[in-house]
Amino acid sequence: MGRSDTSRGECRFCKKSFSGRGFGKHLLTCPGKKERDENLNEKKRKGDIYYIKIAAYGFYWLHVEIKGSATLLDLDEFLREIWVECCGHLSQFTIYGERYSSYEEEDDWWGDAPKSMKISLGKVLDVKDKFDYEYDFGSTTHLALQVLDIRKGFIKGKIRILARNNPPVYICEKCKNIASQTCQACWDDFCDKCIEDHGCDEDYAMPLVNSPRTGVCGYVGDAY
Ligand SMILES: [Zn+2]
Ligand SMILES: [Zn+2]
Ligand SMILES: [Zn+2]
Ligand SMILES: [Zn+2]
Repeated sequence: MGRSDTSRGECRFCKKSFSGRGFGKHLLTCPGKKERDENLNEKKRKGDIYYIKIAAYGFYWLHVEIKGSATLLDLDEFLREIWVECCGHLSQFTIYGERYSSYEEEDDWWGDAPKSMKISLGKVLDVKDKFDYEYDFGSTTHLALQVLDIRKGFIKGKIRILARNNPPVYICEKCKNIASQTCQACWDDFCDKCIEDHGCDEDYAMPLVNSPRTGVCGYVGDAY
């Protein structure tokens, strides 16, 4: 019966036999260990990535990916930046009848106050879920959202845009050329030339931009 050589050992990653002294050196280059570490790192980096479609009024839409660990507040900030922010109005998500507001109630006397947006998507949304977003409860902009897919993966940052609608083309009410501005008094669209002499005060002129909030309140364009 041979005695086992306790000075040697088997690498648990690649199953090769090494002497104790040689083992440390081996570990630095062991392909089995390298592969395992990479897998662990991958797993750590990977999380739920939500693929969400955001649409408004038929011709405005965005396809985005957002981390499941991101909050409704992160999504609210994104929507404000790209589409709706004009003067800091309140906003709200509605998910299965539950409201999540950008304004947090100090205390909830009646128990019917909206919830905070500081909650992760992973806690409130699942694949195929449809939900709503409203910005400004005076001149409200309504957005319809849907989770199209959830995958395991990693993206840089919390949110990224996959696709966005091309800017809509508006026609000047007077000369039929491409319009660049809209009038908040008569709600017609005009080119830069015609807006000046169409009869309304120039203070009502607003730029036409690629946003469902174009021409509404003080909206002048996105931050992107
Ligand atoms: Zn090894
Ligand atoms: Zn406003
Ligand atoms: Zn014109
Ligand atoms: Zn006008």
